Amino acid sequence: MTQSHSRRRILLAAGAALATPFLVRPAAAQQSRTEPLITLPGDITHGDQATITRVRTARPLVALTFDDGPHPSLTPQLLDILAARQIRVTFYVIGSRVVRQPELTRRIALAGHEIGNHTWSHPSLSGLGDAAILSELDRTTQAVFDAVGRPPVTMRPPYGNLSGRQRLMVHRERNLPTVLWSVDPQDWRRPGASVVTSRIVNAAHPGGVILAHDIQSGTVNAMPATLDALLARGYQFVTMSELIGWPRWNQRRIRLAARAS
Ligand SMILES: [Zn+2]
Repeated sequence: MTQSHSRRRILLAAGAALATPFLVRPAAAQQSRTEPLITLPGDITHGDQATITRVRTARPLVALTFDDGPHPSLTPQLLDILAARQIRVTFYVIGSRVVRQPELTRRIALAGHEIGNHTWSHPSLSGLGDAAILSELDRTTQAVFDAVGRPPVTMRPPYGNLSGRQRLMVHRERNLPTVLWSVDPQDWRRPGASVVTSRIVNAAHPGGVILAHDIQSGTVNAMPATLDALLARGYQFVTMSELIGWPRWNQRRIRLAARAS
């Protein structure tokens, strides 16, 4: 067994230790008994047990998520926009981009944002076998770990393409819940910044997961007005882990050494 292979097994075991207790027993203890922060549908046969599209909460929380980066020029612009407003978001990164932008990936994490797994090469996973799906996720988990010292704890399939059976498989094998979205501005179609803003602001709702892409200049240009409008409406921005009710991603304790024995 090579050193990196050994390390990967340790890493995945650590990720499992972090995620499992929280998913099966979500943050109900911190919430009132009548309203758990996260509501998981009961129909496990359709894969929904391992899938998050939104969270039921009375508080005006939203999780803003950016897919497909990191992008060498647009992601830094976005980080400046977010920092000016002290807003934390979640980046679903592509592993093959992470290894080309390790410093930028570190900057994302050091700014307090969360990093999720968006596969290595952005394929449509639903057409792949289980081993290939896990390989796409494992390579990216390793790349993120190498860059920032902690593994992603959720994943988002490119195009949202992952069957219910596959979502359950990924959760069972890697303890990665699938995070989809409840607000989609279709920004990848490049409708222009003002349209991206109005679509997000009009569709935002408490507990919402907003999908966006930090490889689109129109999306990044839309963010100042979008963020300011949502703040003016009283929304608070949280990362995916926070929305689910888990500990802040960059404050989680990771006990890799203990797991290695
Ligand atoms: Zn994507």
